[in-house]
Amino acid sequence: MTTTSHEFIIVGAGMAGLTATAYLSRAGHDVLLIEKNETCGGLLGSIQKDGFVFDTGPRSIENSGAVRPLLNDLEISLELLKSPVSIGIEDKILHFTSNESIYEYQSLLEKLYPDNKEEIAAIFLLIKNILKDMVILNEIDNPIFKDMKKDIGYLFKELFPYLGKFLLANRRINRRKDPVEDTLKKMTSNQSLVDIMTQHFFKSTPTFFALGYFHTYLDYFYPKGGTRKIPEAIVQKIINWGGSILYGTEIHEIIPSENKLADIDGNTFSYEKLIWCADLKSLYRFLKFRDLEEKVSRKISIQKDKLLSNRGGDSVFSLFLGIDEPLEKFQSISNGHFFYTPSKKGLGESTWTTLKTIIKNFETTPKEAIMNWLDEYCQLNTYEISIPGLRDPTLSPKEKTGLIVSILFEYDLMKKVQEGGWYEEFKIEVENRMVEILSKSVYPRIKDKILFRFSLTPISISNRVGSSEGAITGWTFENPIPVVQDILNMTKSVKTPIPNILQAGQWSYSPSGVPIAILTGLAAAKNVMKNKK
Ligand SMILES: Cc1cc2nc3c(=O)[nH]c(=O)nc-3n(C[C@H](O)[C@H](O)[C@H](O)COP(=O)(O)OP(=O)(O)OC[C@H]3O[C@@H](n4cnc5c(N)ncnc54)[C@H](O)[C@@H]3O)c2cc1C
Repeated sequence: MTTTSHEFIIVGAGMAGLTATAYLSRAGHDVLLIEKNETCGGLLGSIQKDGFVFDTGPRSIENSGAVRPLLNDLEISLELLKSPVSIGIEDKILHFTSNESIYEYQSLLEKLYPDNKEEIAAIFLLIKNILKDMVILNEIDNPIFKDMKKDIGYLFKELFPYLGKFLLANRRINRRKDPVEDTLKKMTSNQSLVDIMTQHFFKSTPTFFALGYFHTYLDYFYPKGGTRKIPEAIVQKIINWGGSILYGTEIHEIIPSENKLADIDGNTFSYEKLIWCADLKSLYRFLKFRDLEEKVSRKISIQKDKLLSNRGGDSVFSLFLGIDEPLEKFQSISNGHFFYTPSKKGLGESTWTTLKTIIKNFETTPKEAIMNWLDEYCQLNTYEISIPGLRDPTLSPKEKTGLIVSILFEYDLMKKVQEGGWYEEFKIEVENRMVEILSKSVYPRIKDKILFRFSLTPISISNRVGSSEGAITGWTFENPIPVVQDILNMTKSVKTPIPNILQAGQWSYSPSGVPIAILTGLAAAKNVMKNKK
């Protein structure tokens, strides 16, 4: 057992922890980054198998005024490739190449649902208005990367002239936080149409976030070599700047009255300031705060209850396929990032009601009923398909193609199946259905060309990075969100009621993802450095 002491300790080497550590080590501070796994990147990363590279997290990276500025600021030069998106429903596939592609999507939906033309026109008017605001919000890089005191020119020439229209756009966006399903249901009674437009988003995604995604499609890029190249490059910078990283070290006790952490082996670490960049429920579960002043303890207790009673958001089931077919075969169908729905019928409300009943009465529900539900869920769902080789051909062996196919998947169902002792069997059943459906629709006979396959489930995600309920982007939108949600207050999202502890990452702000992990990581680093001064 060892005891070490550091000025700053960061827990969690996902994008938030890496960002915070990079800025602190660049500024010459004594900083230690602690990570439970043997690799960095957290939810963002790629794995290698038999010459194929597969991304396990985001299939492409959205810039959102944060990712490219981070790489520039840290002087990381990676080759960033284009990552265009395609959308397909049944046999109709369109490629998103510009803002105008939205009109093609509108006419695709009009062809599929000819009785709902007027409603579709009204929905697209709303989308176009939201997109105008999304363009404004993303017009300039996030100012957090600038040193306003040193860059007066930026302040007067770029930021001040932009501020007025930004504030107005932000105000309009903040008025569109209703769940996207509710918004669309008010505009059309066609449930299939609502499903087709929303079922690949998390449940109750805010309207602006979901409908603004058409802007995100054009904002995506892909690092040459796979998404892992980003965390790997940041790690290299941290090492060059003298920061330390401790892998394979899982923190499970935090004693704020002593400014001390302990890992599962009993090693202890002292800090002046701690930035927690992992699952937030874990932070409060591991916290021993009884020795603190009563007023402070009370505040922490309130926050703890609030967070522990909430849930992580949706999770995914990802199937990884090595296919004995050349990239050209897939290139003729779609771009490398593809949202495909085999049936225009949509999941329908009954699929969700049945799922809730299955989870509630799992022990008494026959396996056959669960499999019937699974049949329907896989047949009517939307698949996010990623083909790394179509962005970077070096990511699959010659004449072969790697595919990542995913659907949103309920953590609670997987958990019940695991507790019931048939997790591995169920996993295979999900994989079989996904392969079968793709073979019968967009990729005929693909099932005869599979070299290998494996999958990751909500349980794998939860086990690997400790993410509550296997969530892939922080809190669920279905309950009142327990963290900051307005971009104007983003820098405040890093504060906690715990003395000398800050938080950053996907659990500290909503809606979240890679850009928010970066922005909050940087905000936390700036906060501790400012207070140090
Ligand atoms: C399949 C998938 C698709 C996605 N698609 C997108 C997308 O399109 N766009 C987007 O913006 N985002 C997307 N995301 C989400 C995005 O990857 C995450 O929101 C982001 O990477 C979170 O970064 P983070 O640093 O906040 O947390 P994490 O990446 O979760 O990092 C937390 C780190 O803390 C470590 N840790 C946890 N507990 C402990 C402990 N007790 N002690 C030590 N270490 C600990 C974990 O191992 C992990 O490395 C996707 C994620 C997945 C999985």
